[in-house]
Amino acid sequence: MSGRRPFIAGNWKMNGTRADLPEIKSMIKGLQAFTHCLDAAICPPATLLAAAAEAFNGHDAIWLGAQDCHIHPNGAHTGEISATMLADVGAKVVILGHSERRTHLRESNALVEAKTRAAGLAGLYPIVCVGETLEERQAGLAETIVVTQIQGSIPESAPRGLVVAYEPVWAIGTGLTPTLEEIEAIHAVARAALAQRCGPPVAAATRLLYGGSVKPDNAAAILGLPEVDGALVGGASLKAESFLAIVRAHPGC
Ligand code: PEP
Repeated sequence: MSGRRPFIAGNWKMNGTRADLPEIKSMIKGLQAFTHCLDAAICPPATLLAAAAEAFNGHDAIWLGAQDCHIHPNGAHTGEISATMLADVGAKVVILGHSERRTHLRESNALVEAKTRAAGLAGLYPIVCVGETLEERQAGLAETIVVTQIQGSIPESAPRGLVVAYEPVWAIGTGLTPTLEEIEAIHAVARAALAQRCGPPVAAATRLLYGGSVKPDNAAAILGLPEVDGALVGGASLKAESFLAIVRAHPGC
């Protein structure tokens, strides 16, 4: 037993309007049956954070999350949102370095590291995403990419509550997943890289999630892997029914 409490987070990406707030409330209601065995987070778009925050109040293991933050707490940064502001509105976690941001917005490891530090200073738990592209995997570079991203994106002095999500880019939103053996192997590599970067105690305590096409029908097998401490779920987190089915599939629940 790792002693790490399982954690399942939903990433709504750029989906959802106020009409979807009842879906968030249904999720929170359903998640209450699982707080004895895991932590869970829902990360809606920034526009819904304030409206959703109230529904999360008083639920210790069910957290509101954001999908990005700026490196500074405030200032002349039009259109940006700081970690301080996210914490102020009730967020507890923030997804950082998602591959969609690394790819489309050219976010570098150094920028993700600065954001991770900012999140920690604001008291947010950062979920730092790492993962290789299909070309990198086919070139035999998956482990190298994950190690490089961990070394570059995570501060040596890791923030409290740090979470790392291994998300192979080619598995996100495609219905494809690595084999269970591949997930297990790369998670072990990621944890070793984390130990090198932040020290063995941090590596032992950090929750390492798998993300990429996690669905109700593959969740039990993936979440049952000893190296996997939970999941970051995209598409299947948009509806309470499928998100709760994934949570329910956790073998520890
Ligand atoms: C994600 O975007 O973080 C993700 C894991 O997406 P999906 O579950 O849809 O593959």
